[in-house]
Amino acid sequence: MEELPGPEAVRVFLMHDDNKPRKLKHNLGHRRLLTFGGAYSNHIRAVAEAGARHGIETIGVIRGEEHLPLNPSLARALACGMTLTYLDRASYRRKDTEEVRARLRARWGADLAILPEGGSNAAAVRGCAELPGEIDVDYDVICCPVGTGGTLAGISAGLPEGKRALGFAVLKGAGFLEGEVDRLQREAYGRTWSNWSINLDYHFGGYAKSTPDLKRFIAKYQVEEVYVAKMLYGILDLARQGAFSPGTRVVAVITGQPSTPVVS
Ligand SMILES: *Cc1c(COP(=O)(O)O)cnc(C)c1O
Repeated sequence: MEELPGPEAVRVFLMHDDNKPRKLKHNLGHRRLLTFGGAYSNHIRAVAEAGARHGIETIGVIRGEEHLPLNPSLARALACGMTLTYLDRASYRRKDTEEVRARLRARWGADLAILPEGGSNAAAVRGCAELPGEIDVDYDVICCPVGTGGTLAGISAGLPEGKRALGFAVLKGAGFLEGEVDRLQREAYGRTWSNWSINLDYHFGGYAKSTPDLKRFIAKYQVEEVYVAKMLYGILDLARQGAFSPGTRVVAVITGQPSTPVVS
């Protein structure tokens, strides 16, 4: 595993792992799959690609209005055969209510499997629980970015005794995520774990927001901006502050597509 040159007291190993296909792996036993996302959603792209690979009909419900030409993310989804449909923002906010679900089922068929936005459900958690078993270095802490909490919930559930998971929230005001991780673990395994925590301090203004400082960091490390940069910045900053005991070995999960470089 690649190691990040830099902080002295802490060793940071980089594990490249596209978490969206992992979250989908146990969600693919359906003929027709509908899910939700914003226009730049990695989850939408991953569902479309998995659908193309596994012969599943996919429907992407996109927040807001259609903008043409499609951005590269939605163009890719369309090219994979996904049917794109749009939901106004007010309805989108109510997408998990019975009313909106009934409307979607009426339009797209009752045999529809519906995946939540971001793909976090019990099957996704079980998929992510397989990640720690694939780590081939000795480590103490595993770090990942947190959007909806499914990846962290799974990693925590799959951790060997004595190791800890630390998530970095990329959203502002993300205190609710702690309840979400508990809920997802309970849904997947009927129990929770206490080997994880979420740091809420490195959101840089909110989801997909940035600051000059973070932009400089991204330019230096060439990392994905919405998730990975905030986590890596957080790890290195905490290391500088002495938040990890000396000698701590950290595995940082570089979520996102495999081509994303970190150290060049
Ligand atoms: C979706 C995503 C995450 C967050 O995963 P959650 O399971 O929603 O917390 C992290 N990194 C990348 C690149 C993602 O696309």
